[in-house]
Amino acid sequence: MKILVINCGSSSLKFQLIDSETEKVLAKGLCERIAIDGSMITYQPAGGEKEKTVTPMADHTEAIRLVLEALTNEKTGVVKSLSEIDAVGHRVVHGGENFAESVVIDDAVMKAIEECNDLAPLHNPANLIGINACKTLMPGVPMVVVFDTAFHQTMPEEAYLYGLPYEYYEKYKVRRYGFHGTSHSYVSKRAAEVLGEKYEDLKIIVCHLGNGASISAIKNGKCVDTSMGLTPLEGLIMGTRSGDIDPAIIEYVAHKEGKTIDEMLNVLNKKSGVLGLSSNLSSDFRDIENGYLAGDAAATRAMNTFCYRVLKYIGSYVAAMDGVDVICFTAGVGENGPIIRNLVCDKLTYLGIKLDQEANNKRGEDIVITTPDSKTKVMVIPTNEELAIARETARLVK
Ligand code: AMP
Repeated sequence: MKILVINCGSSSLKFQLIDSETEKVLAKGLCERIAIDGSMITYQPAGGEKEKTVTPMADHTEAIRLVLEALTNEKTGVVKSLSEIDAVGHRVVHGGENFAESVVIDDAVMKAIEECNDLAPLHNPANLIGINACKTLMPGVPMVVVFDTAFHQTMPEEAYLYGLPYEYYEKYKVRRYGFHGTSHSYVSKRAAEVLGEKYEDLKIIVCHLGNGASISAIKNGKCVDTSMGLTPLEGLIMGTRSGDIDPAIIEYVAHKEGKTIDEMLNVLNKKSGVLGLSSNLSSDFRDIENGYLAGDAAATRAMNTFCYRVLKYIGSYVAAMDGVDVICFTAGVGENGPIIRNLVCDKLTYLGIKLDQEANNKRGEDIVITTPDSKTKVMVIPTNEELAIARETARLVK
């Protein structure tokens, strides 16, 4: 089957066309600045050149029309006609408590996604716009939604409740949901596969360390805890997001700096994390790593604080699962940052972890980076959310 995978943001849209039998990417690309001056589409067929075209895109329907045009284009297209596209898989950020699994889209599903708009006001409405645009341009083609939150719905009550008046959960569904679920699910399953072990027999910790970062505990094939919460702001220190803080800081600093709650949340989302900690050196971990290696004090502060938070979460998830068999690193930083993996794993001697430095310096492959006598295994598994979405879509529409 040929599956079009769509990841739609408020002004951008990423796409991949994947052959679900061979699991090969046939073409991929990105629409940027949708409905803003200077809209641009980037398109790359497998084995071909990347093409960038600046062209007006008044809305998401126009963006998807351009994507379909690129895929069917006589010169660089990869399908002869749209009828070759068997299904579309959409990434949706928030499924609330309504969805513990991916689903085929129908009117009831659309309504249930809309009901979660309040929980992800920046993401869910954009995801819905993308779905509606595809429905308009590809009538009759089956579509599936894969939720970022679904994998975490197996968390027990004690992991998802906050220490708040219970009525806030009852009235407003205030609870931990967790995000990056597609990645946590893909990486943990892949780790078991690579090790040749049964997924249901393992205790796995997945560290998804990208610009957004989260960590999850997966026991016997089920997610039992994760670091992101009601929103993706909680948990680890990220590129620009603060992660966990004392909630009283918001009022304290707002008062000192004359800021509103909205302005404070903007600081916590966009000006904090390693960017804030490094006194605005960078939110990009490559710059932080380079600064750290050069002995720069601000970069070292950001690096150490980031790694310490990862280390603390690993410890808490070892406690939550009463042990751990495998720790996986994934996403931009987790896959490419041998220094970060070293700094974290150096302090995990209590788990009997010994890194194999040669393996730790490799990139781009599923690999065990501990020595054979290491009691707990550490792995690097490059994440592939698009492939996971394509697999789910093919499974559900077959
Ligand atoms: P993601 O959100 O998964 O796309 O990850 C983005 C983050 O990965 C950015 O902060 C990048 O700096 C980081 N990253 C990408 N390549 C490297 C690298 N070679 N070393 C360290 N960090 C990297």
